[in-house]
Amino acid sequence: MSGNLLQGATDIYTRYGPLHPDAGTAVTFTIHASDPTGISEVQLSVFEYEWTTLDNAVARPGGTWGAVQSWPFPTPENGISRTFTITAGFPQHSLICFSVDVLNAAGVQTSEKWAFAAGGWSFGSVPIPLWIRPPVGDSSGLVASTETENVQYIHMVFIPQSGDSVYMTPRHMLPDIDNLLFNHFLPNPAIKIGEKHWAFHYSNEFGFIPDWDANAPIKVTSAQYNATNINSNVGLILHTKPQRDWAYGHFVGSEPGDANFGTMLHEIGHSVFHLADEYTTSPPPDASATLFHNVYAKESECVMYLFWNKAEGVGDYWDPSFCRPIPGTPMWRVEPEAASCVMLVGQFGPAGVPPHFASSCFRRARYIYDQLE
Ligand SMILES: [Zn+2]
Ligand SMILES: [Zn+2]
Repeated sequence: MSGNLLQGATDIYTRYGPLHPDAGTAVTFTIHASDPTGISEVQLSVFEYEWTTLDNAVARPGGTWGAVQSWPFPTPENGISRTFTITAGFPQHSLICFSVDVLNAAGVQTSEKWAFAAGGWSFGSVPIPLWIRPPVGDSSGLVASTETENVQYIHMVFIPQSGDSVYMTPRHMLPDIDNLLFNHFLPNPAIKIGEKHWAFHYSNEFGFIPDWDANAPIKVTSAQYNATNINSNVGLILHTKPQRDWAYGHFVGSEPGDANFGTMLHEIGHSVFHLADEYTTSPPPDASATLFHNVYAKESECVMYLFWNKAEGVGDYWDPSFCRPIPGTPMWRVEPEAASCVMLVGQFGPAGVPPHFASSCFRRARYIYDQLE
C-alpha cells in the first residue's frame, strides 16, 4: 500500500429491494464495500421479526435468523459488490433486520445493521419504516417506529400528493423513493456521517402541498403531523406534477426526480440542520442563534467562527477572506462562493457537482448529530 491515510477505513453502502415488499415477494440485498487495505470477507445476516405491537417485534419462530451468505476473498479486493436474494420473501407483518459485516485485510471488522417492514402493515396510518437503524441490543426486538426507543432519530416521512396522476396509491411512490433514498440521500456525505440517526418511512395516506403561487395551506393528516412535529423531523410531500415548491414547518414539497434532490437537501438544511440561506433573500436570511451555523449578522462573528473552528482542529479552511457579505443584506456568510454549497445554489449548482453542504454547513450537520448521541 502507498501510505494511504484512509488505511483501515471500510466504506459500506447497502440497499435492499423492493421497498416495503409484499408478503412472499423476493427481496434482494445489495452490498458495496471498499477499503484501501483490501476486503477479506463479507457476511450478510438476516433476522426476521414479527410485529406484536408498534413498539415491539419478536423473533418469528422458524423464520430466517442469522448468517445467510458469506463471501470470502482469499486475495483481498479493494472494492466489492455482491447481491443476495431471498426468493421466498417474508410473511405478512414482518420487520426484517439485516446486518452486513465486512472484514478487511488488517483484521478490522466494520458492520452496518438496518431494518425495514415487509408484508402487510397492521398499524393503520402510522408511517411505515423503509430504512431505520434497529436499536442496539435488539434481542427483545424493540422497534424504532415511535419515540420510545433508546436511539435518537431524524425521521423523514415520504408523503404522496393527493390527486397526483402517477401516485394512484401511496405504494406507487416507492420506486421514486428507492431512487431518492439509495442514490441520493444515503450516499450524501452529510447524511452518511450521521446515517445511524436517519430513519426513513412512507405514509400510507395522502397529503397535499399546493403550488407556492396558489398561496394556500398545506393539508396533512394527523398521523403525518404527529410523525413529524417533533425535533428535526421532516415530511417530504412528493408530487410528479411540476410546481413551485416551498416548505412550511416540518413539511417540504418536491418533485421526485434526480434534478430535484438539490432542493430537497436545501430544505433539509433548513428544517433538520437549521441552516440559513446563503443567498440574497427578501426579507434577508436570519442569522441562526445556534452554534456552528453558516450565516452571521456581523463580519466579526463570521471571522470568530473560523477562528474557533481552526482552534478546534475540525476545519482546514481558516481564512478570514471567506467571510463575505450577502449582497443587499446586512448578513455575512462563511463559505467561499466557489464551494457551491446547496444552501447557496439550491438545485442550480454547477453541472456535474452533486448537491452538497460545503464546509460550515457540513460542520453544522456534524454538530447536530453530536447532540443526538
Ligand atoms: Zn432556503
Ligand atoms: Zn453552506
